[in-house]
Amino acid sequence: MPSNDIKRTELSALGEFGLIDHLTASLKYKQDSTQTGVGDDAAVIDMGDKYLLLSTDLLLEGIQFDLTYTPLRHLGYKAVVTSISDIYAMNGTPTQITIGIGISKRFSVEMLDELYDGIRLACDTYNVDLVGGDTTSSLTGLTISTSAVGFVDKKKVAYRSGAKENDLICVSGNLGAAFMGLQILEREKRVFAGNTNVQPQLEGFDYILQRQLKPEAQKDIIDLLSELGIQPTSMIDLSDGLASDTLQICKSSKVGARIYLDKMPIASETFRAGEEMNFDPAVAALNGGEDYELLFTVPIELHEQLKNLAGIDVIGHITSESAGTFLVTPDGGEIPLQAQGWDSQE
Ligand code: ADP
Ligand code: MG
Repeated sequence: MPSNDIKRTELSALGEFGLIDHLTASLKYKQDSTQTGVGDDAAVIDMGDKYLLLSTDLLLEGIQFDLTYTPLRHLGYKAVVTSISDIYAMNGTPTQITIGIGISKRFSVEMLDELYDGIRLACDTYNVDLVGGDTTSSLTGLTISTSAVGFVDKKKVAYRSGAKENDLICVSGNLGAAFMGLQILEREKRVFAGNTNVQPQLEGFDYILQRQLKPEAQKDIIDLLSELGIQPTSMIDLSDGLASDTLQICKSSKVGARIYLDKMPIASETFRAGEEMNFDPAVAALNGGEDYELLFTVPIELHEQLKNLAGIDVIGHITSESAGTFLVTPDGGEIPLQAQGWDSQE
């Protein structure tokens, strides 16, 4: 038994972001080249003429993925995409990744070949080199750790911290599709386990299933912004959901925000799945996560240029910090944006 005078604080008391703050608050950076450390989508390292970007992601079986319905090929692809998405979120170009895997004896060589087929395909698609990693046995399941490296011109780097009052809040693509795809897959799993009477029904949901199982990173949006000469004042990739990720930008930039519910882009298939699953697609868009779209802010002067751009929607604007962070409903109601809670597992 632990002695009574040993202090024990439950992880749930801090939550994910509180825990990261707690663990990293007293870090002192010793290297002049450490431009930005903890707190953005990637660390920023000064290489003289450019910035090097560095980001790490961890995927655990049973937490981030479920192999009951996730093809290993897609999982390999997704592992690369989630990793390089953080490099794009800094307005950078990913160039290399390393991959660590922990594997239990449940896995065969053929299964890992499939995983690596997906990894190779993503590396080819995004012009990234896999340059190393680590392999170790695990007691249970599969663990995939990815680190991505990229570069960005110093004047182009986009931090979470640069949003200014009156800036427009923009988002690429559409929201909530990956989460709704996951709900369809979970339903399928319950049917398979035989503990529900609902019939399996995947037909007609190709798009949202793809958004969940084999997402893409937003290289095209970064290229488009660069072609148009648009420099985002702040940017983040949408991994945790619009609400949580908007709050990250607001916290880093010390600003508030108003997001308009009826401006959030939601695909028709996401609506249809929501109807079928009895789940509000707006909640999926706000809290679902895993969209891997880009959320960014630009000066209001760019409104004319942005409003007709395909693939980008203006969904709100930045306010003063004291004005708070709200979702505005069509009837003018204001709902405070809230980050989804994070559960550490038993
Ligand atoms: P993202 O969702 O973009 O991957 P996270 O929310 O996971 O970002 O992380 C937020 C910030 O905290 C990032 O800068 C990340 O590098 C840092 N971070 C996360 N976990 C740790 C950790 N265990 N130790 C140090 N830094 C961490
Ligand atoms: Mg990110």
